[in-house]
Amino acid sequence: MTPFAWQRARTITDAAAAVSTTVAAAMTAPADATAVVVKAGGIDLLGLMKDGLLAPEKIVSLIAVPGFDGISEAADGGLRIGAMATLATIAERPLLRRRYPALADAAGSAASPQLRAVATIGGNLLQRPQCWYFRAAEYRCLRKGGGHCFALGGENQYHAIFGNHLCAIVHASTPATALVALGATVELVAADGGVRQVGLEDFFVGPATDVQCENDLRPHEILTAVLLPPAPGKRMAHVKQGEKDSMDWPLADVAAVLELAADGTCAAAAIVLGAAAPVPHRARAAEAALVGRRVDEAAATDAARAALAGATPLSRNAYKLPLFETLVRRAILAAAQS
Ligand SMILES: Cc1cc2nc3c(=O)[nH]c(=O)nc-3n(C[C@H](O)[C@H](O)[C@H](O)COP(=O)(O)OP(=O)(O)OC[C@H]3O[C@@H](n4cnc5c(N)ncnc54)[C@H](O)[C@@H]3O)c2cc1C
Ligand code: SF4
Repeated sequence: MTPFAWQRARTITDAAAAVSTTVAAAMTAPADATAVVVKAGGIDLLGLMKDGLLAPEKIVSLIAVPGFDGISEAADGGLRIGAMATLATIAERPLLRRRYPALADAAGSAASPQLRAVATIGGNLLQRPQCWYFRAAEYRCLRKGGGHCFALGGENQYHAIFGNHLCAIVHASTPATALVALGATVELVAADGGVRQVGLEDFFVGPATDVQCENDLRPHEILTAVLLPPAPGKRMAHVKQGEKDSMDWPLADVAAVLELAADGTCAAAAIVLGAAAPVPHRARAAEAALVGRRVDEAAATDAARAALAGATPLSRNAYKLPLFETLVRRAILAAAQS
């Protein structure tokens, strides 16, 4: 690993002023030896550095910024999760587990207990993709500023089945699947103290908008919090399927958040597929298939079929279609029964 300087930020605006660029921008300009980037838990950042994909001049650590990991009730009845809250805290905090079980389950199913104790929600949402061509220094693919996607005609078994024509990554964050279904917002603070709030669904960007970056984080911006809207009466579930139960990203995961009327019919639905597309994929056809119907096995099966409409599987990942169909049906039924 190339040597680097180290700074512990004491405030968020200190950190925002110190960073010179985003990790995505630093990775597409490898000759830039002056990059100053931010570190939270460091799991993804140090992985990129060890793999020879990133060599910043300086790292600014957020670990000493006071109160940055707090979880508190918001005035509107929702919840504010500080960006430095760990996945373990999100999975285990009783208030969060009681009100937003889909998020607690998604956070609790990610990685391994040791990783969840260190991984922060901010870093998790901003982690870079796991595409193995992207992670190998010898492949200068489209996302790293090259001219070619190696996955489209290559080893694409873990890749996207939607939105995969330019670059076929799947978004790496499992909590994001639940957060998008819950309608979460992210708060970002700039070096001059300016604050912007963006719906998480809009914060993530697909390859057609920007093939080199997965989100709308700007240079000199720090992600400070994830804001959850109130969820009284909402039924929800997150389910995932991996090759193994721990230490790996899911092959597929699904979050369902439902509002049921008094007669049991579905009044509103948000169904989101993770590990399916370059951004968490909102299955709007499945949502439309569910609204107005009693949520039973037949309705869940119809919605699950609708969820896969428009999928464009690649040479080695068509197995994801029946896998997602099953997970969407299970997530809907689990949410309705929650
Ligand atoms: C074996 C293994 C299995 C895994 N399985 C899963 C899984 O199943 N699901 C899943 O979701 N993840 C999984 N992960 C990924 C892991 O959860 C992430 O790497 C971790 O959450 C990143 O968080 P961090 O705090 O360590 O971020 P860091 O590595 O510190 O930062 C990640 C990125 O975010 C930027 N950043 C961090 N915080 C901020 C901030 N507040 N403002 C602005 N920029 C910021 C950094 O500059 C960097 O670019 C796995 C990782 C490993 C090693
Ligand atoms: S899927 Fe995206 S990240 Fe992977 S090789 Fe293709 S362009 Fe690169």
